[in-house]
Amino acid sequence: MSHQWDVIVIGSGIGGLVTATQLAAKGAKVLVLESYLIPGGSAGYFERSGYRFDVGASMIFGFGQKGTTNLLTRALESVNVSLETIPDPVQIHYHLPDRLDIKVHRDYKSFIEELSNNFPEEREGIASFYAECWKVFNCLNSIELLSLEELGYLTRVFFQNPLACLGLVKYLPLNAGDLARRYIKDPRLLKFIDIECYCWSVVKADWTPMINAGMVFSDRHYGGINYPKGGVGKIAEKLAEGLEKAGGHIQYKSRVTRIVMEKKRAVGVELFNGQKYYAKKIVSNATRWDTFEKLLPAEDLPKKEQRWQKRYQKSPGFLNLHLGVKEEVLPAGTECHHILLEDWSKMEEEQGTIFVSIPTLLDPDLAPPGYHIIHTFTPSWLENWQELSPKEYQAKKESDANRLIERLESVFPGLEAGLDYQECGTPKTHRRFLGRIEGTYGPIPRYKLPGLLTMPFNRTAISGLYCVGDSTFPGQGLNAVAFSGFACSHRIAVDLGL
Ligand SMILES: Cc1cc2nc3c(=O)[nH]c(=O)nc-3n(C[C@H](O)[C@H](O)[C@H](O)COP(=O)(O)OP(=O)(O)OC[C@H]3O[C@@H](n4cnc5c(N)ncnc54)[C@H](O)[C@@H]3O)c2cc1C
Repeated sequence: MSHQWDVIVIGSGIGGLVTATQLAAKGAKVLVLESYLIPGGSAGYFERSGYRFDVGASMIFGFGQKGTTNLLTRALESVNVSLETIPDPVQIHYHLPDRLDIKVHRDYKSFIEELSNNFPEEREGIASFYAECWKVFNCLNSIELLSLEELGYLTRVFFQNPLACLGLVKYLPLNAGDLARRYIKDPRLLKFIDIECYCWSVVKADWTPMINAGMVFSDRHYGGINYPKGGVGKIAEKLAEGLEKAGGHIQYKSRVTRIVMEKKRAVGVELFNGQKYYAKKIVSNATRWDTFEKLLPAEDLPKKEQRWQKRYQKSPGFLNLHLGVKEEVLPAGTECHHILLEDWSKMEEEQGTIFVSIPTLLDPDLAPPGYHIIHTFTPSWLENWQELSPKEYQAKKESDANRLIERLESVFPGLEAGLDYQECGTPKTHRRFLGRIEGTYGPIPRYKLPGLLTMPFNRTAISGLYCVGDSTFPGQGLNAVAFSGFACSHRIAVDLGL
């Protein structure tokens, strides 16, 4: 069989695009097949009535200028493209039960001071816990981040920086809650650490790997949170542009329905229209569930995947509201990202914690003059949106949206009166437009696991098939899936002898 391509990547999420661009930059012939009209997946966008809405991610890590963990900056540079970014002075403004009101300032000292002033008895514990996070981050940030499945790289990186490597090995099986409880006793402060984890891992601290926590809790003060000018969708657009510049190709409206196997090897893909493409290596940027249960026969689920599914389940998706609002709704000094929770016992419940992002505070050009975008979302299970008639579905969207807006009135009084535009999405919407099974945000542990030790890397049980994205090490988030893309492309480059 003649291979048209060295590598085919199914899907153009950030994980898929980083894999593709890294490989194209190394000289591989790469084809990306994307089912949607634009690249980006959960980091995409849509436009309505003069607003440009991010579909998902908007708190962006990885755009720092130093160290090794600034993987989005590096991914763009590798294919000679760049993006203007706008620094966000506050990562999150928390509005929590019992009037606990905390801002995570970009400036580390200001954040620690604000948190310690709220928990004066725990001043030392706070400093010690976050200092542990810095230890993880400093180890990560001093080594090249590539494939942990490649022995040559592991040996090289170990001899270059043995202390950092040994440091990371120590933290790999730990969860953030294990360390938080070592230093902190106040139950309210431990709940705060829980929500610090929950807001990106969608599980509490006890179940959140320490490696991820170390990365998030430190990089927000190091590289910082930076918003791409023109919207989050620009990241994928620029990577796609870089891919073409480097000789690769991206094809839209190209939904892959099957991975073609020959002699137990993945050798190609088939599209919805029957068109087949062949390559030496196939990469799936779809979730592991989609990859192994839809693109391959579900009855042949490899043992390794069966084990993984026993450990990890699909997280809920989100109920999303994309709002256009009059600028007077936002008081002076409003921050870009907010988390709202009224009752600690509801943190992990359906529509418990509310997330808010107001990107127009950083980039006003995303909305018409005099208006802002508020993207607010809250976890919601697909099952609550199924088996409804179209009328019932519409009615539930309206009533749930109204309840969300009502709750947000506590932070943004006058929100409802100031609405100019409103669009509501559910887990069904994300399933349809982002191609994610059950509209899930990604995998979460079914029970307490040993940190990141059980998260799979990029090679799979099927020869010639690799996975990349948020259901591979190290998990969800744009910088995390970029890490997965660097690792995947490195492993494939070694396998192809590039
Ligand atoms: C509401 C929300 C808010 C978020 N907020 C943040 C945030 O603030 N910061 C942050 O860092 N992260 C955030 N995230 C998480 C982040 O967006 C994701 O972890 C990340 O974008 C996932 O990237 P990925 O590479 O795994 O692929 P995905 O984004 O899932 O993209 C996969 C791509 O593959 C395509 N595809 C799938 N199946 C096929 C097929 N069969 N054929 C062809 N194409 C296919 C899809 O269309 C899609 O384009 C958020 C996510 C959501 C949903």
